[in-house]
Amino acid sequence: MKDNEYWRDKLTPDEYYVCREKGTERAFTGEYWDCEKDGVYHCRCCGEPLFLSDTKFDAGCGWPSFFQPTQDGAIQEERDTSHGMIRTEVMCKKCGAHLGHVFPDGPAPTGLRYCINSLSIKLDESEGTE
Ligand SMILES: [Zn+2]
Repeated sequence: MKDNEYWRDKLTPDEYYVCREKGTERAFTGEYWDCEKDGVYHCRCCGEPLFLSDTKFDAGCGWPSFFQPTQDGAIQEERDTSHGMIRTEVMCKKCGAHLGHVFPDGPAPTGLRYCINSLSIKLDESEGTE
């Protein structure tokens, strides 16, 4: 695990706030909430592939939403009781970057909604998803 100094150097202040301090970008302001391009969304911090554009859907919430991660084990989940709510935080398993939260109100086949900050992910359009 890298330390805070490393990330402060590598990330922009906004990225640092979201990824390392578990911040949340404002709804409808991120780079990807209405993005429909094909590709692979990687962890902004370590480059690990986390979500495919095929699993992205419009949840109308103002953040990019996916119904499943690229693979089991790519994402780490943790109970989050901050802000007076009980939610499930999702993080990049590899580097611990805060990504967003997962909610049980997504579409089939998983019924899950991974609500992710654009600042936590980076779309690579050069990679096919088939
Ligand atoms: Zn990562």
